Amino acid sequence: MADPKGFLKHTRELPSSRKPEERINDYREIYEPFSAEKTVNQASRCMDCGVPFCHSGCPLGNIIPEFNDAVYQENWDEAYQILSSTNNFPEFTGRICPAPCEAACVLGINQPPVAIEHIEKSIAELAFEKGYVKPQIPAHRTGKKVAVVGSGPAGLGAAAQLNKAGHEVTLFERKDRVGGLLRYGIPDFKLEKWVIERRVGVMEQEGVNFRVNTNIGVDIEAKQLLSDFDAVVLAGGSTIPRDLPIPGRELKGVHFAMDFLEQSNRRQAGDQLPADADIWATDKHVVVIGGGDTGADCVGTSNRHRAASITQIELLAKPPKERDEYSWPNWPMILRTSSSHEEGADRQWAIQTKRFIGDEQGQVKQLELVKVEWGMDQTTGRYSFKEVAGSEQIIPCDLALLAIGFVHPQHQGMLEQLGVELDERGNVKANEQKYQTSNKKVFAAGDMRRGQSLVVWAISEGRECARQVDLFLMGHSSLEAKEDSPLMLHEIEE
Ligand SMILES: Cc1cc2nc3c(=O)[nH]c(=O)nc-3n(C[C@H](O)[C@H](O)[C@H](O)COP(=O)(O)OP(=O)(O)OC[C@H]3O[C@@H](n4cnc5c(N)ncnc54)[C@H](O)[C@@H]3O)c2cc1C
Ligand code: SF4
Repeated sequence: MADPKGFLKHTRELPSSRKPEERINDYREIYEPFSAEKTVNQASRCMDCGVPFCHSGCPLGNIIPEFNDAVYQENWDEAYQILSSTNNFPEFTGRICPAPCEAACVLGINQPPVAIEHIEKSIAELAFEKGYVKPQIPAHRTGKKVAVVGSGPAGLGAAAQLNKAGHEVTLFERKDRVGGLLRYGIPDFKLEKWVIERRVGVMEQEGVNFRVNTNIGVDIEAKQLLSDFDAVVLAGGSTIPRDLPIPGRELKGVHFAMDFLEQSNRRQAGDQLPADADIWATDKHVVVIGGGDTGADCVGTSNRHRAASITQIELLAKPPKERDEYSWPNWPMILRTSSSHEEGADRQWAIQTKRFIGDEQGQVKQLELVKVEWGMDQTTGRYSFKEVAGSEQIIPCDLALLAIGFVHPQHQGMLEQLGVELDERGNVKANEQKYQTSNKKVFAAGDMRRGQSLVVWAISEGRECARQVDLFLMGHSSLEAKEDSPLMLHEIEE
């Protein structure tokens, strides 16, 4: 185990971030360098618990106490081998995962938890720097061909694993660059895009064939994949945004968050955008509707555009600052202040939007809001809200960004052509054990199957799905299964 007294000697420490007033001048990642020695001290805090709740808190089943110990021993190569045995892309999750492992860490009961996410990023970065990350070219090929549609973390995870199993993998992406929401959703200040390119380079050397600018269902008939490939993995994400059908929605200046964020990511990549479609927050009163991650990314981007003001509103009530004692080891519903919020925004909770108000040119100028009160409805037994009479207010709004989630994947095109069954939420129906759809040659993973979720879940689904495809094609599989990892929480409970 790491140092038995490590947690007594060292408290949790993370890299400091650049000052908000400095970092809003650029889109680079916000953290200052942190020495390997300090990271070793952080790893030494791990208690190597008999029941490592961190491990069961991680959707990938990362073997956390073991890699903490390897870091403590300064054996970074071994740490990377342990980490990469369960996670193909620790350089992504080490940067942008909300870290449910840390919420489940036993040390977190009465001390700040082990800095697992930072340790993960450090292992991955050191492994690239020292050359421990080597292309794993399969020793032999099976002769089976697999198409993966979608290059987000689910598609990338599935492709990496299927290639490792020796199948010939072609990954189709309709956009011009690989990465899905890692590329065009999440801003550079959270994940610089060279991180994706570096990994794609490794996967290319391993033999994965990437085909960008290829929209399955438009450029290639989806059913063609069924004749050209032995199996197909659908990893197209949950791309239909939730709308806000209130009066004035049609006004100029009311946009989906993803339209705004994709443009910003493209500008950082050096793309020229058509001037008439350009969305800028500069000198505008911006209202971000939706209090989640996507909304926070809009706040950070609007600050970099130099918005005149930024208000972020959320329908739900303000969560408590501290977790309650009963929430451990689960994900606590607490107030989260992201780095984007530190850069400045007026955050308001328990707010309902009533209508957008425009000028004679059809440009949004104001937004009418009303406060709401949440409580238990005695007749239905459910939490619901009612408007607070007399609390209506009108605020300035030249740019409204709708960041209220995604409803389901796009049905038109690929899914309709394949005719795969959908679940009651409109996602592709495929169970979690087999990932197989109503067409036995077709599998589904990531947000396209489970609905809007997290990068760590997408990677996990891609990996698990790949193993099921391998079993389907070969009748056996040597790919790692999550169940092979030691001691999962559900096993403890049984
Ligand atoms: C703005 C934003 C910020 C986020 N921030 C975080 C965060 O900080 N941490 C976190 O864990 N999660 C975050 N998430 C969630 C996370 O990004 C997603 O859960 C994850 O990317 C889903 O991965 P995926 O591979 O299933 O789908 P996606 O990443 O959506 O990728 C799907 C890909 O499939 C392609 N595609 C779709 N249909 C076709 C077709 N017919 N032919 C070819 N290609 C197709 C799409 O173009 C896309 O590139 C964020 C989401 C958003 C929107
Ligand atoms: S729960 Fe925390 S302290 Fe225990 S093994 Fe996991 S990281 Fe270490």
